[in-house]
Amino acid sequence: MPDQPLVLVIDDDAAIRLLARETLEQAGFRVEEQADGLAGVAAFERLRPDIVLLDVQMSSLDGFGTCAALRHLAGGDHVPVLMMTGLDDPYSINRAYEVGATDFITKPIPWPMLGHRVRYILRANRAFLDLTQSQARLINAQRIAQLGNWEWHVTTGEVQRSEEIYRIIGLSAQRFSGAYGSFLEVVHPDDRRLVKDAMYIALHRQQPFNVDFRVVRPDGSIRVVHEQGEVHCDATGTPVRMQGTTQDITERKRAAEQIRQLALYDSLTGLPNRHLFKQQLSHAIACAQRGGHGLVVLSLDLDRFKRVNETLGHGGGDLLLKDAASRLSKSLRATDYVARDDLDGIHQCVARPGGDEFTVLLSVEQTEDAAKVARRILEALSEPFVVDAAEIVVSASIGIAVYPLDGGDAESLLKNADAAMHHAKEQGKNNYQYYNGEMNSSALERLALESDLHRALERNEFTLYYQPKIELIGGSIVGVEALIRWCHPERGLVSPVEFIPLAEETGLIIGIGEWVLRSACAQLRAWDESGHTAVPVAVNISAKQFLQRDIAETVMRALREHGVPPHLLELEITESTAMHNVEATSTTLRELKALGVHIAIDDFGTGYSSLSYLKRLPIDSLKIDRSFVTGLPGDQDDASIAHAVITMAHALRLKVVAEGVENKAQLDFLAANGCDEMQGFYFSRPLPAKECTELLTAHPVCPLWPQDEDNSEVNASRLATPAR
Ligand code: C2E
Ligand code: MG
Ligand code: MG
Repeated sequence: MPDQPLVLVIDDDAAIRLLARETLEQAGFRVEEQADGLAGVAAFERLRPDIVLLDVQMSSLDGFGTCAALRHLAGGDHVPVLMMTGLDDPYSINRAYEVGATDFITKPIPWPMLGHRVRYILRANRAFLDLTQSQARLINAQRIAQLGNWEWHVTTGEVQRSEEIYRIIGLSAQRFSGAYGSFLEVVHPDDRRLVKDAMYIALHRQQPFNVDFRVVRPDGSIRVVHEQGEVHCDATGTPVRMQGTTQDITERKRAAEQIRQLALYDSLTGLPNRHLFKQQLSHAIACAQRGGHGLVVLSLDLDRFKRVNETLGHGGGDLLLKDAASRLSKSLRATDYVARDDLDGIHQCVARPGGDEFTVLLSVEQTEDAAKVARRILEALSEPFVVDAAEIVVSASIGIAVYPLDGGDAESLLKNADAAMHHAKEQGKNNYQYYNGEMNSSALERLALESDLHRALERNEFTLYYQPKIELIGGSIVGVEALIRWCHPERGLVSPVEFIPLAEETGLIIGIGEWVLRSACAQLRAWDESGHTAVPVAVNISAKQFLQRDIAETVMRALREHGVPPHLLELEITESTAMHNVEATSTTLRELKALGVHIAIDDFGTGYSSLSYLKRLPIDSLKIDRSFVTGLPGDQDDASIAHAVITMAHALRLKVVAEGVENKAQLDFLAANGCDEMQGFYFSRPLPAKECTELLTAHPVCPLWPQDEDNSEVNASRLATPAR
């Protein structure tokens, strides 16, 4: 029966072997026998018995030698060996154990007991094997979990530790004393107090504890461990033992730290992100409340960063942002105002909430200090950035919000610093602005205006006004400029200065621009049909509109729709629009010119055109910007610019129109310098279509021409009452 345990009996006495076989088979065992040690070892390898009964005194190889040989065989180490000996002297017994005997039995053998003895040894051996196996499993599991266990006997001070604990601290059990205090030596000095306190409290309150701390290995490397334990008391309630586990959680901590980094820091610059900045700000506000000192928040946005990205690609843009971040941090480090100690450990006060925006948190004595820092930052950023060997100049706009004046919580301080930053942008960029309460209301107003603008076209709220252009020689009205007005149901007439930029930003300008073109053409048609002398109408084309691929088609459609001859339509493109991309401008202008329309460069002098650029563009006239006319004739600079523009334009065979002529002195200067046409309140303000029609009917030649009075208040009603 193979599931009956197999006993190998090795004895040179045939009678003993026989008796052993009889007895053991009776007791339910299988039995194999061998007469000497060498044959016994060979049989062991072949039969793999569950237990060996071994005689000590044998001729070739004695029992001690045989036992030692068995123990060296593979799998021979855990099979129980029961030595049968007539020698019961202590020497022989010791020897038997030394060579690995499990137990011994003295001769004469008590045969009736043998079966029980063998069964007992087998059972004990099984239990022993199970225990060894489960211990091995435990060690393995502890190794995988990097978790060790320990037991501290409070009264003796002795500690037992599992193997894994030694692996975690990087020391062998031999090099580590058993005392509790020796463990504290491997704890990081900064964490010892924490560990001692946790143990002390656990012991005295007799409650479980858990604590995370660092241990320092002999090679200096640091591991983070999580230790937990509980206290065991005796019957009188006195703590006698503390048991616990220690787990190496270094990797877990590292992963958690990585997640924290990703969640709270900007990966490009390594600066805190919006989320962390808000936390730091809230914390700083709480400290400021207690400490009674001032806090300011700076919101910074790089100017025209989109263009950097467009030119250098996003890789180049990223490099610039990194450089900007480091300049920002450096310029703050150089100041005395940056909050450090007084913000309770907040060292990093610059953050990058996203894109080309940065935020800065400062603790200041006086709010004026913020301006000093802002100036220093602007200065630090004004140095050209070198990206891929190209030098790039970037400026920034900064908004400043002061705590508690401009907001009592992180949210409102950030919002208001942002509003101030937008205001700085509106103020021409590259500057800083303190927040004031009106900024938000103007932002809200903008928002309201924007939503109204979306509906203005369908509600037919736009209208065109017309401002005459007067020829200097002869004073005739030689054309009109169509200027849009928005008749807002509540606000009344809204100036294009207010809503055109908004329409540009939102893209609504495309629809509005088309409407202007069609309405201007419709007006031209109406004048023609009512028998007026045809005067050309100039229409302003916005930058975005001009960049539309189908702009020429749109213009042609408007002309065709109303049967208007193209030469009666003039398109005004501002100088900055034209100069944005001269190649593209030239192509578009050629397409437009091919239709037969005229082209004027508007607001001339405010852009950066050079003569060579202008020469390449198919244009008909230049309009000198009003800002250069205002100072005429007294302002020397204005006078020389106006003169130069007129001379230059004539050299290029371009007509020159002066904008914003408001008085006779300006007119005289322009006339003396050979300007071709003028436009301005001195002759007429922009007029509604009906009034303009009346003006054109009554005065094909300007009635105020020439005029002696120097009066800038001249208006349409005066035009309607001719002076001559
Ligand atoms: P702009 O094209 O340079 O138009 C001239 C502006 O100067 C007009 O302002 C006009 O009313 C004003 N102006 C004319 N003479 C005088 C003067 O003697 N003194 C003063 N102080 N101002 C004078 P407006 O109508 O407010 O238009 C402002 C700007 O809005 C225009 O400047 C133009 O750039 C834009 N705009 C007007 N209508 C349209 C349009 O239909 N489409 C587009 N895209 N832009 C338009
Ligand atoms: Mg214009
Ligand atoms: Mg203009």
